[in-house]
Amino acid sequence: MSADTPLERFGLFIDGEVVDAASGRTFQSLDPYAGRPWAVLADGGPADVDRAVASARAAFEGPWGRMTGFDRAAVLRGLGDAITANAERLALLEVRDSGKLLREMLGQLRSLGTWYSYFAGLADKLEGRTVPPVNPAYFGYTVREPVGVVAAITPWNSPLMLLTWKLAPLLAAGCTCVVKPSEHSPASTVAFAQVLHEAGLPAGVLNVVTGWDRSTGEALAAHRGVDKVAFTGSTATGVKVAQAAVANVNRVTLELGGKSAQVVFPDADLDAAANGLVAGVFAATGQTCMAGSRLVVHESVKDALLEKVVARAESIRLGDPTQPETEMGPVANRPQYEKVLGYLDGARTEGATIACGGGPDVDLGGLFVRPTVVVADPGATVVREEVFGPVLAAYTFTDEAQALALANDTPYGLAGAVWTKDVHRAHRVAAGLRAGTVWVNAYRVVAPNMPFGGYGLSGIGRENGVTAVDEYLETKSVFVELTGGTRDPFQLG
Ligand code: NAD
Repeated sequence: MSADTPLERFGLFIDGEVVDAASGRTFQSLDPYAGRPWAVLADGGPADVDRAVASARAAFEGPWGRMTGFDRAAVLRGLGDAITANAERLALLEVRDSGKLLREMLGQLRSLGTWYSYFAGLADKLEGRTVPPVNPAYFGYTVREPVGVVAAITPWNSPLMLLTWKLAPLLAAGCTCVVKPSEHSPASTVAFAQVLHEAGLPAGVLNVVTGWDRSTGEALAAHRGVDKVAFTGSTATGVKVAQAAVANVNRVTLELGGKSAQVVFPDADLDAAANGLVAGVFAATGQTCMAGSRLVVHESVKDALLEKVVARAESIRLGDPTQPETEMGPVANRPQYEKVLGYLDGARTEGATIACGGGPDVDLGGLFVRPTVVVADPGATVVREEVFGPVLAAYTFTDEAQALALANDTPYGLAGAVWTKDVHRAHRVAAGLRAGTVWVNAYRVVAPNMPFGGYGLSGIGRENGVTAVDEYLETKSVFVELTGGTRDPFQLG
């Protein structure tokens, strides 16, 4: 892309059409690698959120709401195929917006079809129960019904994957949706909605409102026409979103931040553990909620392990995220870049030792931060707070009980890993970690059929897995009087 390449234009997507914001305003999206704008987007506000919610409501009350689970399953399968067919184009849009590696985003996009086929398989199995009577005069059964209009609010790091974790189950359940992608990575979601509409998703079932100002997300989270809010983002914003949802007595799922620990025992395969640490904190430039950003390592293998991690970190190829040889792209936006550098300055001030990296890549310039390993005190800020960048904070333990205590000493609880060849210890530590996902001798693996979500400040509810559909369903209990008689009207039946 040269400096004279014209900016691509994206509107809002409401009721099956690309439209301008009611205000006519637009904003630009910056390519963090090129360091200049690459797209112009509609700057939607509360009036556009109203339109989008009305469209989602009409679709819910229209033919989509009357479809059988079998019909919805057929639609979902078609969506998966269309995403696979458009994976390259959609992945490139994500790379332009966020600077993440093309190979990672392509891999994500190519895997998303599995989510739609998995949840298609559940759409026609949303069964209630017949309930044995307490009073034989009544026959009781339950019915599962879609919750209604869902507000989905997504972050900038993997917009389409994190939207899919909401969209595939909510469509299976029979809901409709308004999504507000991050102002830092809005383009791919608009293009995605168009692809899904062309692949058979009826108008109004998925609407997209982009907006620069945070008031757009606020208007959606607090909207009276919404029945459920599904949010992925930072813990601070998640709390505000939950408060807005609860004010309308709406259900809410929150997928929030993390500070996940990788615990390495002396018997671990240190080469595999070093590789897992690199995958955990340097892949995606460390900008993943599940980043394994704390290394809790047995003191006897600390030096040997750090030597391997540092050697690999120092050889990571930084550069153009679209090139196949690149291993780490830039940080996604300037506020995030400054936040990461602020944590590195703070770590130095608090007395941490920088084993490698520790600052910007001066040769590359732009928003590149070198892969960093710091050896820090367990109480240091860089150990306690989510950096959301390529920074690993390491410290040691002497026995298993201390390892678990250190790993669990965090207000978060999204993920964690244990590295050991001892099968007994692997299961003990997996059981002891207070986190929604635990990997044994692995890191950063997700699947449509494995629930994902957090303990503590990492969230409420689970995405993925069979129970994800429950997050988008109401249960209705039906009592049927069987005798045809009447009863004492002043007594509870
Ligand atoms: P963020 O919280 O700043 O923004 C997330 C979304 O919320 C954006 O679309 C934003 O515009 C919107 N928003 C901001 N203020 C709002 C408000 N008051 N009301 C409604 N919406 C509002 O998060 P981010 O910086 O985009 O993403 C990074 C964070 O997301 C990290 O903390 C990361 O750990 C977390 N994350 C979690 C998961 C997970 O599955 N647990 C996955 C990816 C990212």
